[in-house]
Amino acid sequence: MEQLYLYIHIPFCKSKCPYCNFYSVEELSLMDLYLETLIEEIRLYSEFIDFHKLQSIYLGGGTPSLLLPEHLKEIFTLFPVKDNMEITIETNPESLSYEKLKFYKEAGINRLSVGIQSILDKNLITLGRNHRTEEIYKILDLIDRRDFSNMSLDFIYNIPGQTMEDLEKEFDFIRTYNPKHISFYGLLVEEKTAFFNLYKEEKEDDLYGNMYLKISKELKELRYEHYEISNFCKEGYTCRHNQSYWNFSEYLGLGPSAASYINGERFKNPDSITDYINNIKNKKLSITEPEKRDERDILLERIFLGLRTNSGLNLSELSVKYNFNIPDVMTKISEYIPADLWYFRDNSIFLTAEGFLSSNTIILEINNIISDKNLTDFTFKAGYNRTTI
Ligand code: SF4
Repeated sequence: MEQLYLYIHIPFCKSKCPYCNFYSVEELSLMDLYLETLIEEIRLYSEFIDFHKLQSIYLGGGTPSLLLPEHLKEIFTLFPVKDNMEITIETNPESLSYEKLKFYKEAGINRLSVGIQSILDKNLITLGRNHRTEEIYKILDLIDRRDFSNMSLDFIYNIPGQTMEDLEKEFDFIRTYNPKHISFYGLLVEEKTAFFNLYKEEKEDDLYGNMYLKISKELKELRYEHYEISNFCKEGYTCRHNQSYWNFSEYLGLGPSAASYINGERFKNPDSITDYINNIKNKKLSITEPEKRDERDILLERIFLGLRTNSGLNLSELSVKYNFNIPDVMTKISEYIPADLWYFRDNSIFLTAEGFLSSNTIILEINNIISDKNLTDFTFKAGYNRTTI
């Protein structure tokens, strides 16, 4: 293992947002027990994982900004924190404060991801968020005073009732605050969420796709690089941690529901804080039970991860491993996949913004072409392309 990227899941939220299917609980009273367990999990891993190889630490959730400085202090004493390490914390506006920001700075946290989601109260209310527009402005002012230049803002589009005019207001806001990094996630009504019962009958319309293409175009004009399906950044500000997921670097996930990729194996902690706590109490780490994957799964994963970023899918490497002829594959791709969705350069395939929008379908089609399966006529349509972590 040359390099290691670390994800720590903080599975607590003040209340469950009705659209969210990330693993989180509202029992904040479990936080102390959770932290004890997390520290034990780190100790167990440190017997065979060298944390000196760490390149990044990412505290995600849930709502990591609910942690108190003393909690974070305990976590950070367990790792060798280096100067050039990227350390990110996901935050929600209502749980941030001047004191917490001060502590983050002192602890070496050098990247803030702020889940503002929308700058309009009507959309925040629909999303069931606990903050309002006024708090966003206040918190961005505090962040500015604390001099966190490496800040990412999260937005959601395709919110029920959201209009293109609303989106224009988000762009005005971005023009003013000029954050280094932006994530725009398209809302998908997922099963097992409160939104599912409310909106499952809604018909798909063109708004999702129109919004996505508008976001990509506007942000490019504002000199953001569209470097991954849902992610945009100013030059030099890609999220190094998230890139580890897409370029097959090794990463370790701690906490319930966190996923890992070590020594070519993928494994995941249980989606339950109780099971997680019991496992660690019994010294049972998820690394002992990797997912079962065959060559077909691995090929699909390579295509999926390659095409979702602007690094593209390198066919030279794949053609050796999967024994295919690049010109033959390219002929079929040209025949089956509309030309405005992709381009070919230096033996790699890249998706355009229109292609990102249909990436789920394109990925399956290219997988079928490379695996020499029968091709069907796909209807290309907007798919939901949320970052998978
Ligand atoms: S704050 Fe984030 S993680 Fe928590 S419920 Fe809402 S969307 Fe999900």
